[in-house]
Amino acid sequence: MYDISKVREEFPILGREVYNKPLVYLDNAATTQKPRVVIEAMTDEYYNVNANVHRGVHYLSQQATDLHEQARETVRRFINARSASEVIFTRGTTESANLVVSSFSDAFMEEGDEVILSVMEHHSNIVPWQLQAAKKGIALKVIPMHDDGTLDMEAYEKLFSDRTKIVSVTHVSNVLGTINPVKEIIRIAHEHGVPVMIDGAQSTPHFKVDMQELDCDFFTFSGHKIYGPTGIGVLYGKEDWLDRLPPYQGGGEMIESVTFEKTVFERLPFKFEAGTPDYVATHGLAKALEYVTSLGMDNIAKYEQELTRYAMERMNAIEGMKIFGVKDAAMKDAVISFQVGDIHHLDMGTLLDRLGIAIRTGHHCAQPLMERLGVNGTARASFALYNTREEVDALVTGIERVARMF
Ligand code: PMP
Repeated sequence: MYDISKVREEFPILGREVYNKPLVYLDNAATTQKPRVVIEAMTDEYYNVNANVHRGVHYLSQQATDLHEQARETVRRFINARSASEVIFTRGTTESANLVVSSFSDAFMEEGDEVILSVMEHHSNIVPWQLQAAKKGIALKVIPMHDDGTLDMEAYEKLFSDRTKIVSVTHVSNVLGTINPVKEIIRIAHEHGVPVMIDGAQSTPHFKVDMQELDCDFFTFSGHKIYGPTGIGVLYGKEDWLDRLPPYQGGGEMIESVTFEKTVFERLPFKFEAGTPDYVATHGLAKALEYVTSLGMDNIAKYEQELTRYAMERMNAIEGMKIFGVKDAAMKDAVISFQVGDIHHLDMGTLLDRLGIAIRTGHHCAQPLMERLGVNGTARASFALYNTREEVDALVTGIERVARMF
């Protein structure tokens, strides 16, 4: 296990105060704070290395290219992809999803074809499909959820038809923390000859993900949710699929040759990376992945699970507390959505903020799930590898204080 006080020292922002109170940052599902190694590596690159990648013959360009391509290899190793060609850099989960949805539907879907999603998807895995629905008449089928916050797997199996072309579901719910049985979901889809895209935005930061073990066809995640910089994300795709998909955007970097009559696209992964990439952010992301690997993803998972269990226990003891979704901390990621009596989530969030406690309130970009839960929003506390029991205690004391005001 890692030394929590040493770990916290690596995240300078955690030492700051807000409203003259120590910051208790519990909005990690929205974005995580950055360790020194990430911030310093990026600053150092801007100070000492900066040059455009891939095309330059000069020293700095070569050095920046090496850092950028080494970052791709670090991502490959981190998610255990077969080849670095299967790692596409994007701006984040949202862009990764839009890429797959657009290219896949262009190449493989026709009017009346179907995609299977789940009721607990983030808007980034709903709206891109709806754009295609409007454009070419594809249909969205939705896996329902049991009241305990788990997906209805029997209903899932029944959704397949001969028009099903792809399944696209989230690994972990950003609202309920439910860890979905994606291996089973993928196995069932493959039995029907259907590929699967997994939204890994909320799983990748919390436990080890392994592309070869999962056997998913596409997998997406964001750098900023795993202690890396904003503006960078990853799309993993099996080489065989990526080879068959048309490019998403056109421009420099993604071509081998261009004439006005005909363009030959670059090989993978560059075919999907039009324009100058954020090569400083890829380097920062690699540093973040090296950092969590040095702590050990299994250690992080164990630490956060114990913290989540402790938080659930303490929060459940608060009068009027309702925690949405899965009750068993072992089946839950480090996310707790809650409601206390009839206190509005916005009031809860605003009053906790004045105590120095940062949580999220609202619909969490998952309005269909809110509708399923019968609420217009929730308060949400979400944990990271650097949160402590003392911070959970501060949250509980804070909630109790807010509750007394009403
Ligand atoms: N999917 C899930 C499950 C998420 O939690 C988020 C971020 N809240 C996203 C997708 C979108 O990530 P980004 O905004 O970094 O593209």
